[in-house]
Amino acid sequence: MKQKETLLNSAGIDLNQAIDDIGDDHISSSHDTPLREDAFEMDDDLKMELIEKHFKEIMNILGMDLKDDSLKGTPKRVAKMFVKEVFSGLNPKNKPEVKLFENKYKYNEMLVEKDITFFSHCEHHFVPIYGKAHVAYISNGNVIGLSKINRIVQYFAKRPQVQERLTVQIGNELKNALGTDDVAVIMDADHMCVSSRGVSDTSSSTVTSFYSGQFEHDNQKRNEFLKYISLSR
Ligand SMILES: [Zn+2]
Repeated sequence: MKQKETLLNSAGIDLNQAIDDIGDDHISSSHDTPLREDAFEMDDDLKMELIEKHFKEIMNILGMDLKDDSLKGTPKRVAKMFVKEVFSGLNPKNKPEVKLFENKYKYNEMLVEKDITFFSHCEHHFVPIYGKAHVAYISNGNVIGLSKINRIVQYFAKRPQVQERLTVQIGNELKNALGTDDVAVIMDADHMCVSSRGVSDTSSSTVTSFYSGQFEHDNQKRNEFLKYISLSR
């Protein structure tokens, strides 16, 4: 049997070994999406052109006949889907602009938006992660439009992700946008890399949470939030 080629990176780490070690254990290295400095020096059109070319190559290597009517448009479709849709949240220019409104009703209880649908992709396998996000904040005098909360969730979901990082990124962005520490996020998601391959578990879901400010320090606030999201309509 042919020995697996040893591939060392500049730090002398055996990359094949490192990839094997990660395996199906979804670990992430940072709260920031690992992006290179030059990530957006190429424009979207060039990115799509190159991805199309390389995806065609992947299909060719798999032995697929790209002359087939059903397949010939696939590389272009995949390239467009990656750049314009499912990974469009990598590009800061697509970040939703958030306008703050004065909290005229003097509503100073928590606001909860629950069951926000999101679709993301696991950065280790590039297959979907999808589920619901539940978000709460306590206004410090400003509020944002409800649909902006959905847009913030979607923006960070449209990246190759790990669920833990996605949850923290949404929480931190809401803190920044609202100018308050009192933010909570819970995400409950299915990972297709767990359900459709690997251990093929179709019944488990993964829950992650982010608690800041009062939600972090006040158990009553946290429990109130948890109670609201468990209410059925
Ligand atoms: Zn995965």
